[in-house]
Amino acid sequence: MKYEIKISKVDKSRVDALDFNNIPLGTTFTDHMFICDFENGQWVNPRIEPLATIPTHPAAMALHYGQAIFEGMKATLDSEGNPRLFRPTKNAERLNFSADRMGMPDFPETLFVEGLKQLVALEKSWIPPQDGSALYLRPFMYADEPFIGMRAATHYKFIIIASPAGPFFSKRIKLWAERKYIRAVAGGTGEAKAAGNYAAAIRPTELAKASGYDQVLWLDAVEHKYIQEVGTMNIFFKIAGKIITPKRDGAILDGITRNSVIELLKHKGFEVIERSISIDEVKEASNNGTLEEAFGTGTAVGIAYIQEIGFDGDVIHVSNESPVGLDINNTLNEIKTGKIEDPFNWMV
Ligand code: PMP
Repeated sequence: MKYEIKISKVDKSRVDALDFNNIPLGTTFTDHMFICDFENGQWVNPRIEPLATIPTHPAAMALHYGQAIFEGMKATLDSEGNPRLFRPTKNAERLNFSADRMGMPDFPETLFVEGLKQLVALEKSWIPPQDGSALYLRPFMYADEPFIGMRAATHYKFIIIASPAGPFFSKRIKLWAERKYIRAVAGGTGEAKAAGNYAAAIRPTELAKASGYDQVLWLDAVEHKYIQEVGTMNIFFKIAGKIITPKRDGAILDGITRNSVIELLKHKGFEVIERSISIDEVKEASNNGTLEEAFGTGTAVGIAYIQEIGFDGDVIHVSNESPVGLDINNTLNEIKTGKIEDPFNWMV
């Protein structure tokens, strides 16, 4: 199906005011946004218009009952200066998975990708050219129907905004293995990219930061020992030569970087095991010298190397080097910038 996206442009772009060598994180937004309304059971009026605040009724259901989901992805420039997206269909699929869990309508995947393409083409001059920099894209959907009462809303907005992001200098991070608070349980909403999941993570993350850690390492909701994921990343360990990542158990987010890293590792000849892994097993591996690497994976940072994990008053140390993580990070970046051939056809 062909969609007609109406475009109204700003008179003058604000991009000239941006210092590309010093981009403030998460506070700069491009000139335009993509926006589409859901009414009478259909998505209507897809359009790109100047970024602006949106009047919101105080009874808008997203504010009360939390029907709000989002995605995160990046556009980069290839060596010829053409914008590229990394696996955008995966984000479209995940948005619809989240929508289904939260009782929200599907958004057409072709329109999702078409909206992204047209917005990114229009905002091309906002894509930072430096290695490791990108234009962060935030597609999201929320219930904007004014109604007091518990049911699925009948009116929604789907919007894409874009925010340039400078290079991420990956320092090794310290994790806090959280035994009291939990992020998600199978059957809950952990597999959905639902706003409420992030709200519930804020307080535990603040507490971890106050104790000198960078991120929370989330453990399972029943036994508080099986590792789920970390902050807004999935997690990988290399123990005695084998690469292990927690299996998808209905509670962890199906990370697109996780999925890509697993494919890349297999392509490079590594064995990747998706299974339950407990914090005790990681501690044991650290103690007996077989914990070779630990790294997080996610759109925002790519690969984040883990230095240590605070756990029950103890510290689990991870080896200083992460050769596999580093190699995967480099290959991912080379695919994204077109420096090497894309063996998987990931780039769009
Ligand atoms: N887990 C959580 C909770 C996240 O928010 C994210 C970021 N979307 C990830 C994992 C990593 O997912 P992706 O690789 O798709 O960015």
